[in-house]
Amino acid sequence: MKTFSKSPSEKEFAEISCGLCGSSRYRRIWKSGGIPFVKCRSCGLVYQNPQPVQEQLLGRYDEEYFDYEKENEANFLNLMKLGLRDVGFFGREAQIRASAEALGRTASFLDIGCATGALIEYLGSSGWNAEGVEVCAPSARFGIEEKGLNIHIGTLEAAGFPDSSFDVVHCSHLIEHLTDPDAFIAETARILRPGGIVIIVTPDISGFQALLFRGGWRSAINDHMHLFSKKTLSKLLRKHGFVIQKSVSWGGLAAGTAPKLLKSAADRIVKPLGAGDVVCIMGMI
Ligand SMILES: [Zn+2]
Repeated sequence: MKTFSKSPSEKEFAEISCGLCGSSRYRRIWKSGGIPFVKCRSCGLVYQNPQPVQEQLLGRYDEEYFDYEKENEANFLNLMKLGLRDVGFFGREAQIRASAEALGRTASFLDIGCATGALIEYLGSSGWNAEGVEVCAPSARFGIEEKGLNIHIGTLEAAGFPDSSFDVVHCSHLIEHLTDPDAFIAETARILRPGGIVIIVTPDISGFQALLFRGGWRSAINDHMHLFSKKTLSKLLRKHGFVIQKSVSWGGLAAGTAPKLLKSAADRIVKPLGAGDVVCIMGMI
């Protein structure tokens, strides 16, 4: 079964060049439900081409998207906490907070694509100065009005944070939705303080499930403009000055694609191989 995705209603599509290396040479790999995915001949990045222009794309994140986020709030928070644990964030938390406090400030955490703000609510309650960015206005308003959270409505670029604003920037299942991941990582590098860390979670096209299902892979959907592998995501981070600290991956077979015993065996096998369906990468600037 594919991941939740909105039906395309955009009228304006653009032929784009590679969001990682800038090359316009590619080969078509999948036409997935009518959605054309191509692979850069130079660096291997997979992306939709042509793809909707950003102004139209933002219209997808509406009330229906909010309902999906709200319904899955607890489940997604749990998954994000597991990702943060596996990549070693909680093991470094005390050290990051102590360094900030030594400089007379509270350690700061930005969750981009924070939806209703479940993660920043959780971290805020344990002493972080936690903020969010969210393009889905109904989701953001729910977090602001119902939970009193500090959420900026719109894109990261529109939030206009000053240089070196954060100790940690986190984005889970966000970067694959963007039309310009290169500009996004450049902006992330700018708003992190020197020594700050970025944690990115995204579907992994080099994982076992993508290799098995190809164009039928659950993440080959119209909401995903870019499909990264550990290699292409690491390259993008290094391009903007990040040093890769750690990467972990999970998910052998998605629920519903195999009997439970087979699924749990696949889930166990892929983890040490780094061949899971979703990758979490931590980089330091
Ligand atoms: Zn490329």
